[in-house]
Amino acid sequence: MDRRKFLGTMGLAAAAGAALPALKSCTTAESGWKPGDVLESYSADLLVVGGGPAGVCAAVAAARQGLKVVLADSGNCLGGMGTKGLVGPFMTCYDAAGENMIIRGLFEEIVDRLIAEGGALHPSGIRQGTEFTAWISEGHDHCTPFDPEILKKVYDRICAEAGVKVLFHANFLSPIMKGRKICGALLLTPSGVEAARAKMVIDATGDGTVAFRAGAPCVFGDPENNRVQPASLFFRINNVDTDRLIADVVPHLPEFRRVNGVSYRCLHWRVAEAEAAGEWDLARKSVNIWRSVEKDQWVINCTRIHGVDATNCENLSAAEVEGRRQVEELMHFFHKYVPGCEKATLMGTGSTMGIRESRHVHGDFILPVDDLINGVIPEDNILLSANSIDVHGAMGGPAGGLYMPIKKNMYGVPYRCLIPKDVEGLLLAGRCISADSPAAGAIRVMPPAMAIGQAAGTAAALCLQRGASPASLDYADLKASLLKQNVFLS
Ligand SMILES: Cc1cc2nc3c(=O)[nH]c(=O)nc-3n(C[C@H](O)[C@H](O)[C@H](O)COP(=O)(O)OP(=O)(O)OC[C@H]3O[C@@H](n4cnc5c(N)ncnc54)[C@H](O)[C@@H]3O)c2cc1C
Repeated sequence: MDRRKFLGTMGLAAAAGAALPALKSCTTAESGWKPGDVLESYSADLLVVGGGPAGVCAAVAAARQGLKVVLADSGNCLGGMGTKGLVGPFMTCYDAAGENMIIRGLFEEIVDRLIAEGGALHPSGIRQGTEFTAWISEGHDHCTPFDPEILKKVYDRICAEAGVKVLFHANFLSPIMKGRKICGALLLTPSGVEAARAKMVIDATGDGTVAFRAGAPCVFGDPENNRVQPASLFFRINNVDTDRLIADVVPHLPEFRRVNGVSYRCLHWRVAEAEAAGEWDLARKSVNIWRSVEKDQWVINCTRIHGVDATNCENLSAAEVEGRRQVEELMHFFHKYVPGCEKATLMGTGSTMGIRESRHVHGDFILPVDDLINGVIPEDNILLSANSIDVHGAMGGPAGGLYMPIKKNMYGVPYRCLIPKDVEGLLLAGRCISADSPAAGAIRVMPPAMAIGQAAGTAAALCLQRGASPASLDYADLKASLLKQNVFLS
């Protein structure tokens, strides 16, 4: 697509000579807006709050079914953790045997578009135990390395083409309720407080903020011990001599091990050197370093901050500072201790802390981790996945984790998990769906999050077309529509 056509599609033609929405005023007084005022700005069939992988797929799926969709995100780009958070690669979309790609639908479409733009490597060629998986050799087969900048563009385009109205810098403030029914939301935006009214709402905030403020029951982390998984600030480096780095790692592969939940994996021998020299105070004993699409670029998942409450501003703010401090320490480590990284350059840190876990919203059914381990494919299944149960920090120690492989080749996720209790007109998508803490540790990764989003958007469209509520929607209709969208369900 040429630039002018692209800008036109995006409604951003100003740069090419056409007009942005007209500037009405420069001051609050001129706009007539006063504190306490609410601007009646948007009226839609569906409001999706949160433009991460789940929210984008929910919005696109619903818009493609003919709904007028508004997608609101507090940031300046779509993609959530995968772009703002620099989290990657996309975790596995294959079955446990590593034979068949089982997460398809919109996820596959997005991957194909990324590849067409030089922004991803196809998962079929990415095997675990290689530099693309930090040499991790279990549960990481067929990941998808991608470039977050190209992913931002792909998300922009896929939303624009589907006709989704995307609002950036739009912070969800509170739900608009009529009794127990949600009828939209108030958004705090650069324009003031704006009402986005809608017949249905999808909560794709990751933190379940919409559902929580609308009155749905929620728990924070694992209610058994009141803990959430640790947070991590991702960062990217380039200018790495990848051949020398690989040459340092490969002879150590037989020493990779896990002791009492602590992983001694990539570069643990270099961490030991730094520790002996008094130059390492981080919780992890190894460094998860993932090769990206470009050969000299790597994504680092190694900072670790315990006790982060993403729903508490002061706590989260302190965590961001600590994350950047840890990145500084890690850059020193790379320059001094890691062959091939002497001249590595910090490309950037995530513009948001990586939050693995916060609220889980509860519905009538709470997905138990045993269903995933035992490979249950529910009657109201909306996706297939084989991602393992990966609960960082679960052992309570500074670095311990809980890793549980699944016993079957794949498992499903029930549609019921998308329906919160006590609020009507609301569906959940992504990390916050109704699941217990360890189950959420498996389905929170991006490919299943996208599949959940696609199912939520499709369900919303069917509800409005049929005059049904999320709870009364006929699953057979949802199944038929998802199958038509190339979603694998059995
Ligand atoms: C440290 C870490 C490592 C990970 N590693 C991987 C990995 O290697 N591979 C993988 O596939 N997955 C990985 N994940 C998991 C994955 O990135 C997330 O769980 C996934 O992105 C969840 O998708 P989501 O759409 O539910 O939420 P998010 O990606 O968190 O998106 C939520 C969106 O909602 C917006 N939002 C939140 N609150 C508001 C509000 N009040 N108003 C407006 N907008 C709001 C946010 O700006 C954001 O864009 C990792 C996660 C973390 C934190």
